[in-house]
Amino acid sequence: MAAKYQAPRGTFDVLPAAARGRARIEAAAAAIFARAGYEPLATPVFEDTELFERGVGKSTDIVRKEMFTFEDKGGRSLTLRPEGTAPICRAYVEHGMHKLAQPVKLSYAGPFFRHERPQAGRYRQFHQLGAECIGTDSPLADAEVIMLLSDLLGELGVPGVELRLGSLGSLEARRAYLEDLKAHLHAHEGELSRDVRERIDINPLRAFDSDDEGTRGVMASAPTIVGSLQGEDAEHFAAVRELLDAAGIVYTVDPTLVRGLDYYTRTIFSFVCDQLGAQSEVGGGGRYDGLVEQLGGPATPAIGWAAGIERILLALGEEEDAKAQRRVFISHATGAGKISRAKALALATELRHAGIAAEFDLAGRSPKGQLKHADRIGASWVVFLEDSGEGQLRDMASGEQRAVDLGNLVEEITGGEL
Ligand code: AMP
Repeated sequence: MAAKYQAPRGTFDVLPAAARGRARIEAAAAAIFARAGYEPLATPVFEDTELFERGVGKSTDIVRKEMFTFEDKGGRSLTLRPEGTAPICRAYVEHGMHKLAQPVKLSYAGPFFRHERPQAGRYRQFHQLGAECIGTDSPLADAEVIMLLSDLLGELGVPGVELRLGSLGSLEARRAYLEDLKAHLHAHEGELSRDVRERIDINPLRAFDSDDEGTRGVMASAPTIVGSLQGEDAEHFAAVRELLDAAGIVYTVDPTLVRGLDYYTRTIFSFVCDQLGAQSEVGGGGRYDGLVEQLGGPATPAIGWAAGIERILLALGEEEDAKAQRRVFISHATGAGKISRAKALALATELRHAGIAAEFDLAGRSPKGQLKHADRIGASWVVFLEDSGEGQLRDMASGEQRAVDLGNLVEEITGGEL
């Protein structure tokens, strides 16, 4: 029977079996952020629509086509956040964080929303982890944030990861470059796809992303951003590269790398994974030296990234659902009385307080049924409570069973190691 109600298109339920893998990713990120001093900042899941129009950019696909925008009862236009950087910068300005010691290092995790065509690795509600380093233009910050993501993917064991690095130059340099690029595109208008042609003056960088053969031909001879870097922009990029080289981070410079958001300046980067199909990016980001000012704050250079939890999970494949926590099951049917029932609750509580996962029967199963259930939930041990008040401990892996001192159950189970 088909369910009458289903999760909306492009969304999904995270069922308990899948939750563990997600929690592991979030915990690994939280630990990496904490060790590097990137403190968590949580912003609302919806914001004024204008924040994204101004921050992300009106000509981007995100703002033009992908936002979940609605009017609230007061007639305000609100939007479910499609990304995390503009909200973080909004919070930075709103809370006067420019008065704190700079840079301010922040991190976040949570759901984001884009009205995209759903496919593997692309959803309408997805989850990102992110780090932002706001208030410095030092190349060291670029290297640090890139290393955080590199460390995270390494620690999680994401296979086949490659780092692509590029630079867009400062806002002024980028503007000058965009004029050159537009001139090149106009000179070859006839060979471009309609979509690219219509947006030459709105968003010429998009042409580098095109799958259209004619457009790709034109782009092969187009001036590149990295090739056009000059002065301090070129020095900054060289410094970032030197630091990454010295840190042993492997990357390839991609002179045509672009990102789908308008706020990027100078360094941009993308971690791609060869295990993923069309949506091959696990995470990426870059500098956004003009964004805080654009949102009404003081001129403040900054850099950050976001990584997609679903993409990381896809890249990790099936390995994820294994590795259950070691678990004790307390069988209390043998006594059949209220004493063993209360004892089961007390022992489970004691084990749980000691940090050991413990469960007992809640379904009135027979002793045989309880053993079967213990196996089903992957219990490593079963404790049988006996009428006499004694207990037996069964090691589920070996099948060995022995009398156990119930007064000392934590020790008995951990062998003194916790
Ligand atoms: P972006 O905010 O576009 O720079 O994307 C950062 C990361 O978020 C990407 O590398 C993906 O891992 C993830 N991501 C972006 N859009 C989606 C989506 N629609 N579904 C799932 N993950 C996404």
